[in-house]
Amino acid sequence: MKIPKHPTLIRRFLQARQKQLQAQCPVLAASLVTIRRTCGNPNCRCARGQKHLGHYLTWKLKSKTHTAYVPVDLVPQAKQWTQEHRRLKQVLHELTQLALALIQTHVTAQRRKRGRS
Ligand SMILES: [Zn+2]
Repeated sequence: MKIPKHPTLIRRFLQARQKQLQAQCPVLAASLVTIRRTCGNPNCRCARGQKHLGHYLTWKLKSKTHTAYVPVDLVPQAKQWTQEHRRLKQVLHELTQLALALIQTHVTAQRRKRGRS
């Protein structure tokens, strides 16, 4: 995103992103990962190299990583919900950049009005 210079434009950008802040589905602040693993049964195909695929969610809480198993039929939902979190995080980041730009252009405009540049 390129941040506009003019306050009116910045406000317009801000309003557009405020609307994007509405969650379209549940929001899941975690990463969906696929792990290949063996189940421990020496007679299973995984012992001969064909490992099982497992889907997990991982997230950090107080600098500790947590993991949760995701049943295969819930993987599409988990994917959508984590993507929604990523989207919202990006919108929040852009809102912050724009709000800061608005404050900074205000300061510059005030200085200009007082004859300092
Ligand atoms: Zn196995």
